[in-house]
Amino acid sequence: MGGTPLPDGIKLMDEQGRRIDGRLPGELRPLKIEAGVLRRADGSAYLEMGHNKVMAAVYGPRECHPRHMQDPTRALVQCHYNMASFSVDDRKRPGPDRRSQEISKIISEALTHVVFTEYFPRTSIDVYIEVLQANAGTRCAGLTAASVALADAGIPMRDLVASCAAGKVANTMVLDLGKEEDNFGQADIPLGYIPRTEEVVLLQMDGDLTADEFRTGLGMAADACKKIYDVQRDALRRRYVVADDGGSEGVK
Ligand code: ADP
Repeated sequence: MGGTPLPDGIKLMDEQGRRIDGRLPGELRPLKIEAGVLRRADGSAYLEMGHNKVMAAVYGPRECHPRHMQDPTRALVQCHYNMASFSVDDRKRPGPDRRSQEISKIISEALTHVVFTEYFPRTSIDVYIEVLQANAGTRCAGLTAASVALADAGIPMRDLVASCAAGKVANTMVLDLGKEEDNFGQADIPLGYIPRTEEVVLLQMDGDLTADEFRTGLGMAADACKKIYDVQRDALRRRYVVADDGGSEGVK
């Protein structure tokens, strides 16, 4: 990020305005979401966005431990984001690091905003996000999947959160940056958004943008979140259609 020089022979955008993976600037990577994929979790979702593969599992509301963490007025939404050591080309050192702690914190905050936490005092709602394959944008993929997993767990929520990044690559504003664009692009703005109420629940920025570019990027990411929201709702709808059909394989 921040305009790191490209290795020789690599071009992030061709003369026709196509990106390194063939997408147009405003195009999302292919998105697939399935709800209710884990038998032991209270709620779960599996998501693929381009080469990102993410599993989210929700447990709770359950008694919060250690007890001194309990809030007598509301539930704590505690996200645990983890990237598997085999999820990237170079083996990732297993275990938590500063990056995973940061991502866990911002996703916890984004989800706290939509869950009716006041319904479940003294409890914890634990959200596990496991990144099985990473190709940039995993915090957005994780938040999108976690929100579906919470709904699948039947946890009362104001609405679903959809998430997507916009950014600047080869002096062009683009949507949903891939790995090379994330590494060698000029800016990245991950957004967590509630399309129905137009509330922003996560917003970060890496790199430099003018105020106009920032506004354009935010608009692109918000529009994309509306499309992602439809895919999330569709995943939940399909989950219950299958369950109503008599609980076929793979559904709890
Ligand atoms: P995000 O995945 O939300 O875009 P970053 O911008 O921090 O978060 O990371 C971009 C991408 O860099 C990740 O999706 C992953 O492909 C890669 N990456 C992140 N951390 C590591 C790591 N420790 N080792 C190898 N690749 C990593």
